[in-house]
Amino acid sequence: MTDTIQRGRQIYEGKAKILYETDDPDLVIQYFKDEATAFNALKRGVIEGKGVLNNRISERLFLLLEGEGIPTHFIRHLSDREMLVKRLKIFPVEVIVRNLVAGSLAKRLGLEEGRTPPYPLVEFNYKNDALGDPLITEDHAVLLGAATPDQLQRMRAYALRVNDVLLKFFDERGLLLVDFKLEFGLHKGEILLGDEICPDTCRLWDKQTMEKLDKDRFRRDLGKVEEAYQEVCRRVCGE
Ligand code: UDP
Repeated sequence: MTDTIQRGRQIYEGKAKILYETDDPDLVIQYFKDEATAFNALKRGVIEGKGVLNNRISERLFLLLEGEGIPTHFIRHLSDREMLVKRLKIFPVEVIVRNLVAGSLAKRLGLEEGRTPPYPLVEFNYKNDALGDPLITEDHAVLLGAATPDQLQRMRAYALRVNDVLLKFFDERGLLLVDFKLEFGLHKGEILLGDEICPDTCRLWDKQTMEKLDKDRFRRDLGKVEEAYQEVCRRVCGE
């Protein structure tokens, strides 16, 4: 590590990231791995170099969103695979925004991929591996004690603001933001955007060719997976 922050005990290991304590109880280190999973972890693999690229892409996007007044957990870059973030109590809901029909929405409703809804759609999924992260209504989220109606309303509003910012940012770089997943958490009573924003959590299509440049290349065995992540990083970070 090239920093004075000391990496402490591992708090949590997820499918793509590890969280470590630091000597400050309010701050944690988010470490990005190369491992990838899909279909509720039924498919597993490694995308060589993904952790480094996702750390870089997420950093760029968190800084962009902070600049637009959207509060995030991001504090600063630590190393190739690590960022320093505020410790959050994550709401057990995934907030998904969709600009085009794809993935589970296409499947569930029998719609063609690529169809444009009249306005961006917001969905909530309950984070529960045993149940396969089911789609839930806001009432269900309240019933489950996952968040209050007010917190859900705030997460929805933030998610749509994030969409406005990211849609424009990606468009300027020749990328179509099809859909993405966000996670929010509480830090000292404040709702912050957490987790990561990268090709693991966003669908990104090349505007000209409609080529998929995201985790669908891994999910659907489309090949050139590493190349897609590198291309997104190049366009987002200008490298
Ligand atoms: N997504 C994610 N994690 C999940 C589920 C979805 O990052 O556990 C992202 C996914 O990459 C896509 C968007 O959320 O950009 C919508 O995913 P969808 O509901 O279509 O599910 P999928 O068919 O991709 O599992």
